[in-house]
Amino acid sequence: MTTAAPHSVDDQIDATTRAFLERPPRLLIDGELVEARSGRTLDVVDPGTGQKIAVAAAGDALDADRAVGAARRAFEPGAPWRTMSALDRGRRIERFARLLEEHADEIVALEVLDGGKLRGAVVAGDLPLAVKHLDYFAGWASKIEGNTIPVSVPDTMVRTEREPVGVVAQIVPWNFPLLMAMWKIAPALAAGCTIVLKPAENTPLTAMRFGELALEAGIPPGVLNILTGFGAEAGEALVDHPGVDKVAFTGSTAVGIRIAQRAASQVKRVTLELGGKSPNIVFADSPVEEAALGAASIFGNAGQACSAGTRLYVERKSFDDVVGRLSEIASGMRIGHGLAEGSDLGPVISDRQHERVRGYIDGALEQGATLAAGGSSMPRGVDDRGYYVQPTVLTDVDDTFTAVREEIFGPVVVAQPFDDLEDIARRANDSPYGLAAGIWTRDIARANRLARLLQAGTVYINMYGQTDAAAPFGGYKQSGYGRDMGHANLESYLETKTVWTSLA
Ligand code: NAD
Repeated sequence: MTTAAPHSVDDQIDATTRAFLERPPRLLIDGELVEARSGRTLDVVDPGTGQKIAVAAAGDALDADRAVGAARRAFEPGAPWRTMSALDRGRRIERFARLLEEHADEIVALEVLDGGKLRGAVVAGDLPLAVKHLDYFAGWASKIEGNTIPVSVPDTMVRTEREPVGVVAQIVPWNFPLLMAMWKIAPALAAGCTIVLKPAENTPLTAMRFGELALEAGIPPGVLNILTGFGAEAGEALVDHPGVDKVAFTGSTAVGIRIAQRAASQVKRVTLELGGKSPNIVFADSPVEEAALGAASIFGNAGQACSAGTRLYVERKSFDDVVGRLSEIASGMRIGHGLAEGSDLGPVISDRQHERVRGYIDGALEQGATLAAGGSSMPRGVDDRGYYVQPTVLTDVDDTFTAVREEIFGPVVVAQPFDDLEDIARRANDSPYGLAAGIWTRDIARANRLARLLQAGTVYINMYGQTDAAAPFGGYKQSGYGRDMGHANLESYLETKTVWTSLA
């Protein structure tokens, strides 16, 4: 493990970004920037330095009530968002996409500072994917259609109309703050819903900025409200609010279960994108370099990706080669701030997450695991600041180890050998989660046979981790229900109304 060049983060922040960071903390409600009613704030910390860089408003139940009220008014039958044509709605979503592109430098800087991400990854991944998401769903706005139904009742016409579900509370996590928000906002806007978005308390910055860009794009006041604040306060108040018709949540399984239970008391629509512990399965006919690079995708976003291939299974005869090469890759990664040239791996999100990830590594070692690369010995990474964890490969584990069963959400992979397809299908499925899986083999028939056996919402064959606005993404089992992306996602923001007309 090496570290990237020492950084001076201050030198890398331009005047526009600095001015934004110095702004007073505000919520965006009904098109206005307003203080939290309580006046309370939360500190925003750069995970790469551990330093406070901004303050955000800590909205609570009173603010949630204001935001839901604004979203309800914007959803009234005569409101501009309801009366404009679907084509016009789509055009405004598209204009929102163009504004994100025009403000790319500022959005990228905020996302890097807020989430501890690598600048290159945000420039090449998060931002263009967010823009494409808006573009994809902008097209759907004008293509939402009902059906005519050939019922057997005489002299009767029956048709269905698709209507927006109403006011949607969208609660998103900190690992991809911009992208997770766009995964939710874009289909809801296309469907004609109005929104209260609650970003994670660790990462409110890009949402505070893109809310303003949405207004500038012509999305009317009250259609997209940004409620920053803590989960137990702002988040829970939204889930409980009777003015909210649907909750769309991405985050941990524990919080997802709590949200589903609370929402059930009002029969709210709920979609849940939750945690994962995804198997990445390498057969011995897969080229070692390709398989090792595929396995190293776990280190992307410092391992903080719901679909990360955290359980690596390699066919026994190539186990040493693949895991050996993966360990070399891990040991050669340069750890550093997301704005520093040459960083391959940034920090995890917070001090708490840092302790948690290190705890999993130490726990596995106590249970008898061997370190093939990395370890928990990096107290505060680069120049002793920030929340860095070494990319870590653990071997000599079995399927009962805590590090093999639980979601770690850090740059840690557990590697085990397997013997045959039936053995690996059973072990891969032996998890409460079912978000994603990877298969590496030149034998495409075998890959597809295994793909059918795996209980996972997404299966990657000879690739890992890609997403696209058009391709549904979501979980089996405790990884959640409902799908983000694709047409399936649009459906979850629509109701079906059946209209009967007598022709007699
Ligand atoms: P988290 O569940 O702690 O928080 C997620 C969001 O929920 C935050 O905005 C938080 O403020 C809010 N929240 C917390 N408690 C709440 C409550 N009681 N009521 C309402 N809202 C509440 O998750 P996290 O640590 O921010 O994110 C990491 C998790 O997200 C991981 O488990 C990861 O796998 C999951 N994730 C899943 C996907 C997916 O598509 N399946 C994508 C990204 C992340």
